[in-house]
Amino acid sequence: MTIARRVHLAARPFGLPDTSTWEVRDTELAEPGDGEVLVRVTHLSLDPAMRGWLNDVRSYVPPVGIGEVMRAFGAAVVVESRDPAFSPGDAVAGILGVTDHAVVRGDQLTPIDLDVAPATTWLGALGMPGMTAWFGLFDVAKAQPGDTVVVSGAAGAVGSVVGQLAKAHGCRVIGIAGGAEKCAWLTDELGFDAAIDYREGPVHRALRAVAPDGVDVYFDNVGGEMLDSVLRTLRLRARIAICGAISTYNATEPPPGPAHYMSLLVNRASMAGFLVFDFEDRYPEAVADISARIADGSLVAREHVVDGGVDAFADALLMLFSGANTGKLVLAV
Ligand code: NDP
Repeated sequence: MTIARRVHLAARPFGLPDTSTWEVRDTELAEPGDGEVLVRVTHLSLDPAMRGWLNDVRSYVPPVGIGEVMRAFGAAVVVESRDPAFSPGDAVAGILGVTDHAVVRGDQLTPIDLDVAPATTWLGALGMPGMTAWFGLFDVAKAQPGDTVVVSGAAGAVGSVVGQLAKAHGCRVIGIAGGAEKCAWLTDELGFDAAIDYREGPVHRALRAVAPDGVDVYFDNVGGEMLDSVLRTLRLRARIAICGAISTYNATEPPPGPAHYMSLLVNRASMAGFLVFDFEDRYPEAVADISARIADGSLVAREHVVDGGVDAFADALLMLFSGANTGKLVLAV
């Protein structure tokens, strides 16, 4: 008999989630049936998208229902398997929920090789965020050597990989992040050409100073005013990849639209949204590339690991919205 400690959605938040949003409960799990696997969760991925999953709106996945276990990606170790593809002790990743144990269908799990990288990296640079960076930069934004690439949320899970990949591809890379410490990390340790602290003043002015000829690619993780600012600095045939808009996720009313969108017309530029899951068939291509870069030391995969297990989930999630994380935010279970 396995007791799982799980976080359930108690009520939909208005604005930032708070203590009324969640309920932590212990539940006895059913024994795994045919094709199912019992896993012990070691790490949970904390993702900005989780905030979106709490809203009762039509999106790319159904919202988490009231009373349901909160949806989460995680890494785990197999405890018991009724799927011949897995054996006890195997390391796996998948959508496990905010829980310390789970019974999941084997076909929903992906094996992860801990000799290649630790589990935390399989949730970061080799997981969903890394895939987002790779396909967003190369397939959506079509970054070319020589391009000036700007990425917001640059010191985060997706942004830090975007910048490093763009740099390795021969682009000039400018990161936008909150605070001097994050900016110094981008330029001094990740090799970005410049970093802008958006808290210090208008982003378009700072961008004009470091990229006087304008921006070819904007990889947007932040949306809102930041997107509007970067729109003012586009170059002819610029491409904007709409990856996310974290500045708007806790807004209590719809944010204003971008005022400078006519820059797209003037510059014959384009702006396209994308979802990483659409590239699932091609993940092995990106995993091979990013893991080779990690192995030869040319790409830094940084994880920000928070302890405390599922009880710490509520507070840890908020770190994404206050900017307390550098690199991929992971909860150790
Ligand atoms: P991060 O690791 O980048 O963490 C979030 C960061 O966002 C914070 O550290 C903070 O950094 C920044 N931030 C938070 N609030 C604001 C704000 N109001 N204004 C400016 N910056 C803010 O998260 P991820 O890398 O996991 O995700 C980055 C983006 O990518 C998100 O928008 C997410 O939704 C999106 N995404 C999209 C996917 C897709 O398929 N399209 C898949 C995965 C992620 P700072 O200190 O710099 O403010």
